[in-house]
Amino acid sequence: MIVPLLKGLKITLTHLFKKPITLQYPDEKPVVSPNFRGLHALKVSHDRAKCVACYLCPTVCPAKCITVEAGEDQNHDKFAAKYEIDMLRCIFCGYCVEACPVDALTMTGEFELANYKREDFVFVKERLLEKR
Ligand code: SF4
Ligand code: SF4
Repeated sequence: MIVPLLKGLKITLTHLFKKPITLQYPDEKPVVSPNFRGLHALKVSHDRAKCVACYLCPTVCPAKCITVEAGEDQNHDKFAAKYEIDMLRCIFCGYCVEACPVDALTMTGEFELANYKREDFVFVKERLLEKR
């Protein structure tokens, strides 16, 4: 009777002084892996998004959650006049990033995507532009 009790106490005492493996989220934030696939970001080059509106990412996206509309600038170069990702449908597979021929898209470590309204889950171009 006493032996199991002592064994139990021993386990309790051992764990009492160990470093906890849980984090006090949200006060403590986890460090995510560099390969983590979180919120997307549109890369910026020469003060504009690198995206050339080639439509490859919306084509490969299995969740069909990317909307791109092409525009043409004064030099007749194509750019993404509209770029949106519906995060409620995204499955974070990363195919869009792999498909991009100009390396214009990346996935960040941002995982705190909770929101109150459905429309706030649609990330438009301005919200997706890479933070510097
Ligand atoms: S990560 Fe996958 S599901 Fe999400 S936008 Fe990219 S291709 Fe679509
Ligand atoms: S694949 Fe790249 S360049 Fe093409 S539309 Fe998507 S982000 Fe833009």
